[in-house]
Amino acid sequence: MKVDTDKCTGCLECVDYCPVGAIKQADVGGVVSIDQDECVECGCCLQVRVCEYEALWQPELEWPRVLRSQFSNPRTPHPSTSIYGRGTDETKTNDVTGRYPRGCIGIAAELGRPGIGTRLSEVEKVARAILPLGVEFEKDNPTYNLFEDVATGRLRPDVLGERVLSAILEFKTSQEGALQVLQALDRVSREVDTVIAVNIGSMWDPDGTLPAEKVAEEAGFRLRPNGKINLGLGRPKV
Ligand code: SF4
Ligand code: SF4
Repeated sequence: MKVDTDKCTGCLECVDYCPVGAIKQADVGGVVSIDQDECVECGCCLQVRVCEYEALWQPELEWPRVLRSQFSNPRTPHPSTSIYGRGTDETKTNDVTGRYPRGCIGIAAELGRPGIGTRLSEVEKVARAILPLGVEFEKDNPTYNLFEDVATGRLRPDVLGERVLSAILEFKTSQEGALQVLQALDRVSREVDTVIAVNIGSMWDPDGTLPAEKVAEEAGFRLRPNGKINLGLGRPKV
């Protein structure tokens, strides 16, 4: 995002709408400036139409900067998946997709949140921390297309410096291997320069217990069930 300094009056109305604090009052001239390194191209400041002077404007974004918008602006689709946003249907539709069959644990590790964001270099750190533990990354997730070599967990070098509101690593692992994966996520969460939210899911066992719940508790994670629960209203694909 850019500011037309000829139009900006320095009213500061737009400042609080930036989720990463990238809009700052310039030292001189009373106008605002946008820190281009911090801006995640979420489009929020423009979409709320707070600037009555039409001083904010969106330049065309080129690779790799366009990734910022694809991961941060809910109105920008990923060309690789045609999906708006950062993830896929995740575990919420597992009853239809069967992505995580019995014996598997599905995990989505989301790096960054509004207020903090993340560099894609941090996504690479997490991918490399869990890859040796035998995880299988979800190919439909937009982060998958950023791998230079999925066998090593390395992302393309030209994307590492890009900053986004958040990015999700989606993968599955065996029930037996899930504890080690969660422990690795816990360790690497102390090394990355952002926050990680972990979403974990599995099918219920016939005895009425939930393997995902058991392993998360064993790893010392505090569970916070949310309200996005589907009730098997779709027809299973598999
Ligand atoms: S709302 Fe517009 S005029 Fe006011 S500070 Fe922001 S860009 Fe400048
Ligand atoms: S596009 Fe988003 S990150 Fe960039 S200045 Fe506007 S609100 Fe802030």
